[in-house]
Amino acid sequence: MKPAPFTYHAPRSTAEVIDMLATLDNARVLAGGQSLMPMMNFRFAMPDHLIDINRVGELAYLRIENDALQCGAMTRQRDLELSSEVGERCPILHEALSHVGHRQTRNRGTIGGSLCHLDPSAELLNVAMLLDGTVRAVSKRGAREIPIGELAVGYMTTSVEPDELLTGVTLPLPARDETHAFAEFARRHGDFAIVACSVVMRLERNGNIASARLAISGLAHCPVRPSAIERALVGEKPIAAAFKAAVADAGKLEAVADAYVSAEYRQHLARVLTFRALERAAMRAEETLHA
Ligand SMILES: Cc1cc2nc3c(=O)[nH]c(=O)nc-3n(C[C@H](O)[C@H](O)[C@H](O)COP(=O)(O)OP(=O)(O)OC[C@H]3O[C@@H](n4cnc5c(N)ncnc54)[C@H](O)[C@@H]3O)c2cc1C
Repeated sequence: MKPAPFTYHAPRSTAEVIDMLATLDNARVLAGGQSLMPMMNFRFAMPDHLIDINRVGELAYLRIENDALQCGAMTRQRDLELSSEVGERCPILHEALSHVGHRQTRNRGTIGGSLCHLDPSAELLNVAMLLDGTVRAVSKRGAREIPIGELAVGYMTTSVEPDELLTGVTLPLPARDETHAFAEFARRHGDFAIVACSVVMRLERNGNIASARLAISGLAHCPVRPSAIERALVGEKPIAAAFKAAVADAGKLEAVADAYVSAEYRQHLARVLTFRALERAAMRAEETLHA
């Protein structure tokens, strides 16, 4: 199918984009186009104005500052994947990116586009939730930081206003002694996950769990941080018995059904994937402890 008619704009600065968003009716920002173009072709999205931000160079950057990864909204997924700094300081992001679509889609797809598209099981959204990330939204009215936990207001609907541009993403880095794991189930490699679970974990010197953070996505319209499970793991030995109790609770989290997948199957996947991610993070933690 072909998209409905629209007027194409190609601004070169953030200020120009913000002016356009403030003045043009029914405008949409085009980032990597990997989600928006199919939506326009299917006529799920019918903007009158398409604001292509691919020429706005100031929106594409990647640096580590104040123990956080600072990315421009237009930073390509592939640049994150190929960054040795990201690999060293934020390996959970690296591991998650290997599940995002295909090399071709990651070449174009951006971190900002993925967060704005807000697919419930998007890997980058999952990791942003795990790391308590924030996004920066800018409009003529000013700039504001939105915690990832407040980004979703409904199914594939963000709290970013139509006149706001997402300019940057901040992901606090895991501590150097935290280990990680990402586990997901998708029908085929490169498909969106049905359910995914990410974990970062730190062990005390005596080998017990000092802290565990988890994010589970695909159950509902945005990833969840099961804080009761995170708390219950603290002080436990990182062994299957402790993880079994945690995964039983993961299987009780609220889940939605759709035409393809029942709520019960999503809960089953949450149990299995949480166990796998915890086991792998624990194995890496023990290796680090005894290195
Ligand atoms: C074959 C295929 C497989 C895929 N598999 C996966 C997968 O497994 N996991 C996954 O997470 N994703 C997957 N994707 C989606 C891909 O990751 C997209 O890149 C991503 O969802 C959207 O990023 P984008 O830069 O392409 O944004 P676009 O498609 O350009 O935009 C998406 C939405 O965000 C808005 N937007 C973009 N940038 C901004 C901004 N700076 N400010 C305000 N609004 C903005 C747009 O207006 C639009 O509504 C897949 C895509 C394809 C084609």
